[in-house]
Amino acid sequence: MKGRVFSGARPTGKQHIGNYLGAIQNYVQLQDEYNCVYCVVDIHALTTLDNTAELAGNTREMLLDWLAAGMDPQRSIIFVQSHVPEHSELHTLLSMITPLAWLTRLPTFKEKVRQHPENVNYGLVGYPVLMAADIVLYKADAVPVGEDQLPHLELTREIVRRFNTFFGPVFPEPEAKLTTYRRVMGLDGVNKMSKSLNNHIELSATPEETRKRVLTMVTDTSRVYRRDPGHPEICNVFALHGFYTADRTEEIARDCRSAALGCVDCKKSLAASMNEALAPFRARRSELEQRQGLVEDVLADGASRARAIAAATMAEVRSQIGLLPRRG
Ligand code: SF4
Repeated sequence: MKGRVFSGARPTGKQHIGNYLGAIQNYVQLQDEYNCVYCVVDIHALTTLDNTAELAGNTREMLLDWLAAGMDPQRSIIFVQSHVPEHSELHTLLSMITPLAWLTRLPTFKEKVRQHPENVNYGLVGYPVLMAADIVLYKADAVPVGEDQLPHLELTREIVRRFNTFFGPVFPEPEAKLTTYRRVMGLDGVNKMSKSLNNHIELSATPEETRKRVLTMVTDTSRVYRRDPGHPEICNVFALHGFYTADRTEEIARDCRSAALGCVDCKKSLAASMNEALAPFRARRSELEQRQGLVEDVLADGASRARAIAAATMAEVRSQIGLLPRRG
């Protein structure tokens, strides 16, 4: 029998190639091996979001990209966190058994406090408990994580052990499914690709937009003149060729080093490869955009299937804790 995987992602709107190569591609592949539960964690987004005006639209756009990329609502449960209130209920119950010191010691909490000193809210401290609730509500066997997220998953496992010790064995300890997340650098070649830094290329950009963005990419900065030999190993254009022109990287590296290839031509060739690779995705996304009510239907079905699992888990949780059973 297939195991169950849970993963959540914040609603960040239209996805970029860094999102695809780093996460979405993996989500699509996992569907062959596991029963997947994929959640847009919109409540998590509120911990650091001041302006919620774009939240619903961003959720919708992200969903369209997920579907166009091959995340399949027939095979996977795809839903929005706030549509399944059991997440918040379990979060509250787990927060009663989670020592505060476990949360404030986390490096990610310290980092968030440094980034948002004016908004260290209660939800921010409890973020990892909500994350634990997200995972264990579905009794997930595995969670795809990068090495940097291991401390969070370990905290989930600690919360599970504590709950099971207090109230009996309800939750399995989720295992980390270590994933080598590809770190895709942004157009500046210095920072990770990110929407907030505006150094990204959207999956659904037009071919011309893509070409223009690629032409702005920072290359090997030591290569001042066209005749100067380049160093592909330190060039982000070359790194992206590795994803999109994998069969020609040896030739590109050789021609870069000998200065037979100029950076403008190299970028034009990258843009052409990217546009070719992204064409099927873009066609599918355009088609999905035309289907009125599609996102709403997918999310309603996903929430209903998620709630069936979540409701059963919560009945067990309430009973084990010893809350007075309710009728209906
Ligand atoms: Fe980078 Fe290509 Fe220029 Fe070499 S030729 S430095 S790989 S952009």
